[in-house]
Amino acid sequence: MFTKVIIVRLHRIAGWKEEKMSKASKEQRAELYRDPRVQQLLSKFMSGELSKLEPVYNPKFGYTYPAVEKIVGDTPSVNKFLLQLFEIGILKRELFDKFVRCLHCDSANVSIHYCCPYCKSFKIEKSSLIEHVSCGYIDAEERFHEQSKLVCPKCHKTLTKLDEDYVKAGAWCVCGECDKSFDIPVVSHFCRDCHREFTFEEALYKDVYSYKLSEDVMQEAALSWTLVAPIREFLEDSGFKVKSPGFLKGKSGTSHMFDVTATRGGKNRNITVIDLAASTGDVVPEQIVIAMFAKVYDSAPDRSCLVAIPKMSKDGKRLAKLYKIKLIEAKNYKEAIDGLKASIK
Ligand SMILES: [Zn+2]
Ligand SMILES: [Zn+2]
Ligand SMILES: [Zn+2]
Repeated sequence: MFTKVIIVRLHRIAGWKEEKMSKASKEQRAELYRDPRVQQLLSKFMSGELSKLEPVYNPKFGYTYPAVEKIVGDTPSVNKFLLQLFEIGILKRELFDKFVRCLHCDSANVSIHYCCPYCKSFKIEKSSLIEHVSCGYIDAEERFHEQSKLVCPKCHKTLTKLDEDYVKAGAWCVCGECDKSFDIPVVSHFCRDCHREFTFEEALYKDVYSYKLSEDVMQEAALSWTLVAPIREFLEDSGFKVKSPGFLKGKSGTSHMFDVTATRGGKNRNITVIDLAASTGDVVPEQIVIAMFAKVYDSAPDRSCLVAIPKMSKDGKRLAKLYKIKLIEAKNYKEAIDGLKASIK
């Protein structure tokens, strides 16, 4: 009887973007991948059911995400959930719309009032200004109305063709309260729920986003699901206790994160470490071997394996031999599991 700890470390190499992200956020992401709510949302993206998460207008909240509500619950929880996934780099977002909320009751059921700049009344009539090209006369459109035709009040010619006979020369407003005219109104807001008004200066102007799954995460999650899941299953079937990701404390006191740790109860400490590194290019670079060795050196497992998908670089192979890291080159999870079977024996 012995104890075995098998550690699988998942690396992503494409473009080295992942490496630039902080270790903390990668660990936090790994932790979030275990959250069933995150898994549900991610699987919608990964299966293609969802390519872009767009908000749906709702007068009470402004916007909601019904697809996420089904998973998470009410709108405030959804917003918190999406913000967390964005901040940690799982989702990327794009400004979809802006909306106004009532500062009194927080409702998003708010209308716009265009008001008179002189007396602030919203009882204004809005029309267009028309310019009669040949005589240069400009006035509000209504002044040109004569039965069903447009006739110039100055020269009495009939206007027929827009942009030839006459042009629209902007908007024109007349205040029904103070009778003054103006072309640019001031904006104010009216809450349809609490019936209070508030100014543009007072308005709460909120962002609303559409979300997409980050490409890096798409690969990270695809890897962890297509590779870690079957490896995990194999280890559990072989009698290991598996954690994904797992942590192992080193001599230095540092806790090292691994995508999977597996232990098998027993008397002797017998730890096998497995790193998993996938390259979207040709080969996994030797830096992965070096990084793994640093962890192996500190956490001192009895056995260490590195699964390189699809292949390890020449220098990497040499280093792996030097560091006594068992290298498994695999094109798919079946080959990876076959390699693991051989090294666990
Ligand atoms: Zn209100
Ligand atoms: Zn007025
Ligand atoms: Zn005219």
